Amino acid sequence: MLLIDCPWCGPRDQSEFAYGGEAHIVRPRDPLSLSDAEWADYLFMRANPKGTHREQWCHQHGCRRWFNVVRDTVTYRITHVYKVGEPPPQGK
Ligand SMILES: [Zn+2]
Repeated sequence: MLLIDCPWCGPRDQSEFAYGGEAHIVRPRDPLSLSDAEWADYLFMRANPKGTHREQWCHQHGCRRWFNVVRDTVTYRITHVYKVGEPPPQGK
């Protein structure tokens, strides 16, 4: 079980949160100009690293706000938590 440090509420049990997938996926500025392969890449292709991963979480049973987390996918250790719109930690 993870203990996630919500930027607004503080540390809470993982059961209060919903995982939202990889962070920093940006919608293309002009979707109509993309090929089918490029659109499929935007919609479906995600990193699946063994190690450091930047991901989105929502405090679903708390403040209901989204934020980003840097988590190691091997150890599950969370090294950084930051608000949406803030830059990710350097080197991650
Ligand atoms: Zn919260």
